[in-house]
Amino acid sequence: MRIFQRLWWFIKAHKKKYIIGILLLVACDVLVLLPPWLVGELINRMRAGTLHGQGLAWSVALIAALAFLLYAMRFSWRYYLFGASLVLEKTLRNRLFGHLTQMSPVFYDRRRTGDLMALATNDIVAIEMTSSMGILMLVDSLVMTVVALSAMVILISWKLTLAALLPLPLLAWATGYYGKLLHDRFFDAQTAFGRLNGHVQESISGIRVLRAFVQEQPDIISFTKTADDVMEKNIRVARIDALFEPTISLLIGVSFLIGIGYGTTLVFHSELTLGELVSFNLYLGLLIWPMLALGWLMNIVQRGSASWDRLSDVLEEKPEITGGTKFKGPENTHASLEMIDLTFRYPGQESAVLSNITLTVRPGQTVGIVGRTGSGKSTLMKLWMHFYTVPECTIYVEGIPIEQWNTAALRSRFGYVPQDHFLFSRTIKENISFGDEEASDEAIERALANAALKMDLARMPQGLATPVGERGITLSGGQKQRIGIARALVTEPEVLLLDDSLSAVDARTEETILSHLRRERSGKTTIIAAHRMSAVMHADRIYVLDAGRIAEQGTHFELMEQNGWYAEQFRRQQALATLEDEGEDA
Ligand code: ATP
Ligand code: MG
Repeated sequence: MRIFQRLWWFIKAHKKKYIIGILLLVACDVLVLLPPWLVGELINRMRAGTLHGQGLAWSVALIAALAFLLYAMRFSWRYYLFGASLVLEKTLRNRLFGHLTQMSPVFYDRRRTGDLMALATNDIVAIEMTSSMGILMLVDSLVMTVVALSAMVILISWKLTLAALLPLPLLAWATGYYGKLLHDRFFDAQTAFGRLNGHVQESISGIRVLRAFVQEQPDIISFTKTADDVMEKNIRVARIDALFEPTISLLIGVSFLIGIGYGTTLVFHSELTLGELVSFNLYLGLLIWPMLALGWLMNIVQRGSASWDRLSDVLEEKPEITGGTKFKGPENTHASLEMIDLTFRYPGQESAVLSNITLTVRPGQTVGIVGRTGSGKSTLMKLWMHFYTVPECTIYVEGIPIEQWNTAALRSRFGYVPQDHFLFSRTIKENISFGDEEASDEAIERALANAALKMDLARMPQGLATPVGERGITLSGGQKQRIGIARALVTEPEVLLLDDSLSAVDARTEETILSHLRRERSGKTTIIAAHRMSAVMHADRIYVLDAGRIAEQGTHFELMEQNGWYAEQFRRQQALATLEDEGEDA
């Protein structure tokens, strides 16, 4: 029942709805007692021969009026209680979503999207059920039990009541025992469902790869296995589910047996009238529902609390990077960037991805980062924006260590074009103005021109209003990349980070974009990570990474002089480009 404690903050916030709902529910439970009493009375008067036509008519009218009143009241409490729980569902979902947007990449390195989706859907629904049906059954079964029992004890016979309730302790034990089993099994079942969700999500996003590698059958087989697992786990839950009702019905049957057997003896001994015995059995009948409800309550509460455990596991995980709260950055100063003897390893990883990196980017400079694949270029780019925790005082932005920055303020200084570009399933325009919804049409036009997208747009029937499909599925790789660049340019960021952002365009387009950037961003800082040396050759300074260390650095000419990896790569790429050009011309 701890789940109700955990949901207390919500119940308190919506106490009006809960109080009205619960009061109506209690009133219903009390009113329900009147008809059995009336029936008992009628029978006694019939036997005594004191029942007249008018009295009968009154009693029947009263019972009918009660039925109508109960109808209205039952509707009302349902409306209040279930209405409140729908608000809970929405609140939890918003809270989860808000929380997810705060989490750093480390969190997503560990969790699977499918499981998070399962939390947002199935688990939150299970919690919602606890707060609606659970509270209903808790209040209803408690009130009904207390009221029916009091009526039985006060109006009829405490001896008979006590005897009829002998099986009750057994019932309490059984529901408690089943409840614990159910909690654990339901937890497993929900986790398995999360895995299933993950599988579906991954297969559908990767459907093209799946097809290309003709892996449909193996994937179906592995999906079936996961689905079987979910089914098995749910059957294990269902087995316990199925135990509740028969056990409770059996014990209620025993109660009836005692009630009638012992009751009849009492009538024989004239300790009880026949009318009282009938009323007693009707009251006992009233207890069937609360007893069953108790079983369901246990069931629902255990499901809700298993889901709550899963949900709070995520909600209680603090965002790894909260940033300093105070520092918002001096206004309008140009960003100088510095890394001082930075050594970085990804959480849980043994070896360092970046070692002893010391570099300075002065305001307005353009800096190139090159190096073999896997040498740490992307990691270096991401660290400027504090995506991962770094040792204190190793990265400075505008002279302030990044951990002292307010994270949002820090990140808004950067325009970041990630290597694995991502588009939202909206229109091209919405994707471009993503970082600044109020971007003016001129700003968007300028960004489009600078990212060399004009020609592409002219060929699209709806131009800027063209929807791009999920993740930009309807666009070419190069188009997606350039939309990513335009998105970063629109905000006119202090620092532009291009992570291999020109890899999917041809050499001429690359040259066009780079010359636009040189013109447009003069006085602003730009950092370009690339595989093609041509993308960085005009930079003020170029760093060559090798296995996470700075192996060479200098201007293009200095590096050519040094005749190291950079010079070798540059010559090779130039030779290739010349060959390609000749091929095109021939
Ligand atoms: P490429 O040229 O292929 O883009 P890169 O130079 O950008 O490569 P990074 O992406 O920075 O290289 O990766 C550097 C190293 O860090 C790699 O060995 C990679 O396996 C590791 N790595 C990258 N991302 C993570 C992560 N999220 N968790 C753990 N290790 C990671
Ligand atoms: Mg990279």
